[in-house]
Amino acid sequence: MKKVVKFGGSSLASAEQFKKVGNIIHADESRVYVVPSAPGKRFDEDTKVTDMLLHAYESASEGKDIKEEMKAIKARYDEIITGLELKDFSLDQDFEEITKLLIENPQKDFAASRGEFLNGKIMAAYLGIDFIDSAEVIYFNEEGNLNDYKTYKRLGERLSQCERAVIPGFYGMGKDGNIKTFSRGGSDVTGSIVARASKADVYENWTDVSGFLVADPRIVPDPKPIKYITYRELRELSYMGASVLHEDAIFPVRSCGIPINIKNTNAPEDAGTWIVESTCKKQDYVVTGIAGKKDFCTIFISKAMMNAEIGFGRKVLQAFEENNISFEHMPSGIDTMTIVVHADEFMDKEQSVVSAIHRLAEPDSVEIESGLALIAVVGRGMKSASGTAGKLFTALANKGINIKMIDQGSSELNIIIGVENKDFETAIEAIYKTFITK
Ligand code: ADP
Ligand code: ASP
Ligand code: MG
Repeated sequence: MKKVVKFGGSSLASAEQFKKVGNIIHADESRVYVVPSAPGKRFDEDTKVTDMLLHAYESASEGKDIKEEMKAIKARYDEIITGLELKDFSLDQDFEEITKLLIENPQKDFAASRGEFLNGKIMAAYLGIDFIDSAEVIYFNEEGNLNDYKTYKRLGERLSQCERAVIPGFYGMGKDGNIKTFSRGGSDVTGSIVARASKADVYENWTDVSGFLVADPRIVPDPKPIKYITYRELRELSYMGASVLHEDAIFPVRSCGIPINIKNTNAPEDAGTWIVESTCKKQDYVVTGIAGKKDFCTIFISKAMMNAEIGFGRKVLQAFEENNISFEHMPSGIDTMTIVVHADEFMDKEQSVVSAIHRLAEPDSVEIESGLALIAVVGRGMKSASGTAGKLFTALANKGINIKMIDQGSSELNIIIGVENKDFETAIEAIYKTFITK
């Protein structure tokens, strides 16, 4: 049995948290490869080390003095080192080098990655095991995606030489020879890559909640944990904002069927959530999870006889492609079509998109609206249960919430509804209460 264990920022924010992590690793000798994040928040108003580093990078690129900022970051690590009583271990030299590099040649990804790099060094010293710099084993291609072939070859070889090791999360080596990071929260992706490269039996992802919960605990008080969830359900939920696991983290393990177990560093005895390829375990509820995001825009296009015009949809989508905007959803009627996009991608380009739609598709009218929130109600059980949509709409109607859009995924795994931003939290709570009954 071989396990890869990834610990998130809050699990490694202080010496006290590090000690819990140490106990977890020592409690099971199959926990052989450890992927740490950078120190996260110790309390609500605290700042994550990654954010502190990104701020220092910005200051350095503006030519400002970063000594004080670097001192504050170093203090975060020194507090951990002292608390763990790591004798003969210091990051003084690393900080000198990093500060020098940031001043001479500020690079954003390099700056952000140092949070995990330094925490990885502490973790390796604390556990007394090897440290593998991710820049030597994880590679990106020219497009900025993972270079699968090179990564799995090098990382696989390297891991086969180490019985136990620490591999810092979040970064690797870019095609141009500079450090490159995944998007925020990307240590989850590293953990998944290490699990696949080492042919692990389980990928344990340790965080600050007892598994994937049916809804965001910041919206619904004390939501139930999900015991089993499939990769596909999870992908829908994490894409729609259930941030507990990075949306790309399932791909590496998915292709070889390694299950992910989400666990709580502060309550290690809790079972957590199993993310699996497939399961015949009976579900407690028809709905597995609810997630959502605010701030979408809708572009409502109408044209008489749109249904009969071959190529109309393609012309509309071309207007978005020309402006380099990806679309989220596209519900359509006989003479109407709605495109849903992220507000932050669309806002600056709205007039350019509208004129392109007119030029390419010659519609009767184009209307745009902002302030839409999308909510995904996801469940593998929805396919065989009748009345799910009815229940959902009744729940929202009872709260006086106006549904602006409905889109049922073609897999019958999810129903996406659009509501106004202001109704977002109330809608999620109402849906939760309707489906999660005991
Ligand atoms: P880590 O630092 O361990 O990677 P994250 O902050 O990235 O942890 O993810 C865990 C957080 O995700 C939780 O503390 C919780 O606030 C948030 N979260 C959002 N949606 C959910 C959900 N459905 N289930 C559990 N946690 C959720
Ligand atoms: N430290 C990085 C972040 O804050 C990566 C991670 O935590 O997974 O985004
Ligand atoms: Mg995370």
